[in-house]
Amino acid sequence: MLDPSRILQRCDALARHSELPGGLTRVFLSPQARAAADLVLGWMREAGMQARLDAIGNALGRYEGERPAAACLMLGSHLDTVRDAGKYDGMLGVVTAIECVHLLNARKERLPFAIEVLGFGDEEGVRFGTTLLGSRALAGTLDPRVLESTDAQGVSIAQALRDFGLDPQEIPSVRRKRGEVLAYAELHIEQGPVLEAEGLPVGVVSAINGFSRLRATLRGEAGHAGTVPMKLRRDALAAAAECVLAVERIARARPELVATVGRIEARPGAINVIPGEVQFTVDVRAPEDAAREQALAAVRTEIALIAEARSIGFEIETLQELGSSACAPWLMAQLERAVAGEGLRCLRLPSGAGHDGMALKAIADIAMLFVRCKRGISHHPAEAISAEDAGTGARVLNRFIHDFRPVSA
Ligand SMILES: [Zn+2]
Repeated sequence: MLDPSRILQRCDALARHSELPGGLTRVFLSPQARAAADLVLGWMREAGMQARLDAIGNALGRYEGERPAAACLMLGSHLDTVRDAGKYDGMLGVVTAIECVHLLNARKERLPFAIEVLGFGDEEGVRFGTTLLGSRALAGTLDPRVLESTDAQGVSIAQALRDFGLDPQEIPSVRRKRGEVLAYAELHIEQGPVLEAEGLPVGVVSAINGFSRLRATLRGEAGHAGTVPMKLRRDALAAAAECVLAVERIARARPELVATVGRIEARPGAINVIPGEVQFTVDVRAPEDAAREQALAAVRTEIALIAEARSIGFEIETLQELGSSACAPWLMAQLERAVAGEGLRCLRLPSGAGHDGMALKAIADIAMLFVRCKRGISHHPAEAISAEDAGTGARVLNRFIHDFRPVSA
């Protein structure tokens, strides 16, 4: 039997390996990450898997299929967390996958393919500011130069790997070839409120949204808040306020597109001075790149029009950009059959946050199953899921694994 209470207990047990007393912070290649990985490796072995730490610090377990050395269905998620994190983001996917293998092993059942469960070491990118190192090593897309990135203490990734007991020279051995991995499927908490609003315990992810991040600078003229008449002002913050509302309006007009101004700074920033210069960021995400690009173009046009009408100078820089990662239709269909098999309505939804599948897409088709989380909260100690939903997620994943048929190439 799949045991939802064991799944939640194991998430609790992992949460105890934290550098933050009374909370959860576990970053890449830390002693706490080591302890968590050791715990996971133990559970993998208990579930009948061969388990080890790979050269980039991922926990890796393999359950052989009917024939030895068969290609695998890869499952898993990440074991690192953000600062002051919740207990389920990442860990739920690893622990649930192990639970499913545990059941196979208890029934002494072998499938026509192997199963590998990954507990990725670095998805959040908190310590070194670089993300997806574990999954990029697997996909063979890890640029060795990134190993020189340092943390706040000046420790490089290469050094941290050595301190962890790993050899950075061995990283190329982690690489998997296309064909060795039949598909990658990840169960993850939704990190948003959609499933709760729909009254559904699980949903099938259609794509991991692409994103663009801009920084806009508006230059007006600072002046005395008491002496400059309104009609002679070039107030950069008033212009920025219009821009913020324009960004919101543009995003609201397009389904599935989200846009956020998350940071704004006015200079000189005094109560009695007209703001002369303002910088703000814009984060735009969408499951389809074309929709995101159209929205970006609209944002740029609006900012230009607002600046022109107010005689304000402006500049827009692109800070970061990443295309979306679509989930494979054949895998979505198999996941939906598993959802329907549990008597549930199927809902497709995009993932607004990034995941390891973005990197693994270089070697295999990907799919994701979202599990409802309370009030859509994630990356926060209040992150919570019910035992019932954990159980439903596990049953759907188990059914998917059992009925999994690789697409004929
Ligand atoms: Zn996550």
